[in-house]
Amino acid sequence: MNFIPFARPEIGEDEIAEVTKVLRSGWLTTGPKTKQFEKDFAAFTGASFAMGVNSATAGLHLALEALGVGEGDKVITTVHTFTATAEIIRYLGAEPIFADIDPVTYCISPDDVERLLKLHGDVKVVIPVHYAGQSCDMDRLLQLRSTYGFRMLEDAAHALPTTFNGKIIGTLSDVTVFSFYANKTITTGEGGMVTTDDEAIAKRIKVMRLHGISKDAFSRFQSTKPSWYYEVIAPGYKYNLTDIASAIGVHQLKKAYDFRDRRQAIVDIYNQGFSELPIICPRQIRDNDLHSWHLYVIQLEEEKLNISRNEFIEQLAAAGVGASVHYIPLHQQPYWKKTFDLKDADFPISTKVSSCHVSLPNFPGMTKDEISFVVSAVKDILNKALK
Ligand SMILES: *Cc1c(COP(=O)(O)O)cnc(C)c1O
Repeated sequence: MNFIPFARPEIGEDEIAEVTKVLRSGWLTTGPKTKQFEKDFAAFTGASFAMGVNSATAGLHLALEALGVGEGDKVITTVHTFTATAEIIRYLGAEPIFADIDPVTYCISPDDVERLLKLHGDVKVVIPVHYAGQSCDMDRLLQLRSTYGFRMLEDAAHALPTTFNGKIIGTLSDVTVFSFYANKTITTGEGGMVTTDDEAIAKRIKVMRLHGISKDAFSRFQSTKPSWYYEVIAPGYKYNLTDIASAIGVHQLKKAYDFRDRRQAIVDIYNQGFSELPIICPRQIRDNDLHSWHLYVIQLEEEKLNISRNEFIEQLAAAGVGASVHYIPLHQQPYWKKTFDLKDADFPISTKVSSCHVSLPNFPGMTKDEISFVVSAVKDILNKALK
């Protein structure tokens, strides 16, 4: 058996042919293919507006800017995430306030969000993360939004396709951001998509993702201005998605449900295979909803084992299985910890979970043999390490 990587993108002949077409077309940057990808994505999520961007990080930055966040504003998010979720708050000079997580879903804890809202008063935006691909408790979060009057930006980098109460993530709150990074549920190499039903947010994002250039000024057919005319109305960014990336995206999107089903099948085999081991397997709390299963994250019951989490990952690698950690929580990262004086004791659940969690490979292209191999490797290592 060759080494089984933690993740491997699933790129088919459709994607390759479409990229080739774009390369031959003479138009490489944002153009007709991106327009098509955006249209398809809007249809997929039911959102009024879907805007391609060159990463989810860029999309999160644009979305927070469009929500009017600036210097000194307060924004609540989770520590149990990738640093991108929080760094965009700092891009705008705003102040991050960190919440702990729910012990079962590992998503932001609505109780902790409410405690922070009471403590801090004027919070402008809350950024939940649909961790691993399971939806946050959106009912509770949206209730809090009505009560406290903040805006909500969903980090859905893991959540395509994911549903909450049967509704697909993408239109549940003010604005939602998806990632097409190489190891995400669908990929364009690098890329992202922002969805919203709010026309004002969409307008601002469209301007800011391309240098602050207003297109209203040079609508070729309605305006008397010549086609080369444009107006810069803000110091914008360079965050547009290329047609080369979108060519991959249009085909990946068509396969999103199939990829999810294949990851679900791996999860079912893992959960069954690990049932006798000192492992806490990931749990889906709403059976009728779709979990994208971007990540399959177990926790080792270390008190029952003679090896640490780090040793477990080393032994898996030696056996030929790539594993990873999602994430070292932000309150343990030097920048966040020092700058905002964050302590383990303030995030007891994330601290506990992240000390013993491990992500195993669950990419859609895994073969039956590869899946069985991972199950055997995990079993062998842990059975030898039983106390
Ligand atoms: C991957 C990821 C991002 C950033 O996505 P990019 O497309 O790489 O910018 C943001 N948030 C979370 C939770 C992620 O996993």
